[in-house]
Amino acid sequence: PRLANQIAAGEVVERPASVVKELVENAIDAGSTRIEVEIEAGGSRLIKVRDDGSGISEEDLPLSLSRHATSKITSLEELEGVASLGFRGEALASISSVSRLELVSNTDEDPRNGWRVVAEGRRMEPRVSPAPHPRGTSVLVRDLFFNTPARRKFLRTEKTEFGHVEESFRRQALSRFDIGWVLRHNQKTLHQLPLAQTDDERERRLKSLLGKNFLDNALTLDIEVGSLRLWGWVGLPTHSRAQADQQYFFVNGRVVRDRLVAHAIRQAYRDVLFHGRHPVFVLYLDVDPAVVDVNVHPTKHEVRFRDGRMVHDFLFSSLHRALGEARA
Ligand code: ADP
Ligand code: MG
Repeated sequence: PRLANQIAAGEVVERPASVVKELVENAIDAGSTRIEVEIEAGGSRLIKVRDDGSGISEEDLPLSLSRHATSKITSLEELEGVASLGFRGEALASISSVSRLELVSNTDEDPRNGWRVVAEGRRMEPRVSPAPHPRGTSVLVRDLFFNTPARRKFLRTEKTEFGHVEESFRRQALSRFDIGWVLRHNQKTLHQLPLAQTDDERERRLKSLLGKNFLDNALTLDIEVGSLRLWGWVGLPTHSRAQADQQYFFVNGRVVRDRLVAHAIRQAYRDVLFHGRHPVFVLYLDVDPAVVDVNVHPTKHEVRFRDGRMVHDFLFSSLHRALGEARA
């Protein structure tokens, strides 16, 4: 079974950034209000994610490392309407098969009542021992791919790997303003993002994650039609040093890459602004969950809208109008 985990790990765990993504999704699913990500050496030496969520109980701790152990769905019907980010019960098993993994967790308010479990590569005899920890969970992943040298060889420089980690962090921190976030690399704090409830607080977060230039040249919008709401920030043509990768789109709080969405934005942008400009945006589409299927594929960030045409037209006309007014 450990070998199966290592094979499965190839799908989930490509590089440090994919580990961060999975661990942070678990922290979000646990209802955390504060998530800290700590990285050493681009993630190849250490990836630590600490949260203040529900925690994992003593008896569930070893189970959480075994394959297909998920607490998130119990039936196929549930899979249909699944609201949590992870539901396959594969991430922790896969990650632990290619690293030295330590899990410390506490479901109790008393910080003395925590538990720890350790797994190392294929050797998996997770003994649970008492360990103090505030309510919530810390997952420490050390020496990623230490036992799969071929995969370790594929890791790029520390800087490149950390770049991917930061990008993953950026998406997740933009997806949830109701969570406070911290990102550290080699003991240095790069992002410290308190809960953001007001417009000012949200813009402060944007500034930290995307830079001052993005915000200085962006238009704020918030348009609601029927059960559809589009809000967020779109870059204006004055945004001369627009970075090609500053494109973030969230549907009901989830990162989404979708052709229909991309097309609608590009069309509106091209129509109103200069040709050849690269659209930059941080946009949130909130829709009735009944008209969208977000779990087409758990890792590919795809969505399927019941009425794609309507969503496309709503996005296009909302952006077209907002950009047109800004230009006039
Ligand atoms: P999945 O998220 O698909 O259920 P994972 O392998 O990512 O599978 O996690 C396995 C299980 O471990 C989860 O279903 C959850 O019960 C538990 N778990 C993992 N991380 C956390 C966390 N940060 N807080 C609380 N529970 C967690
Ligand atoms: Mg998960």
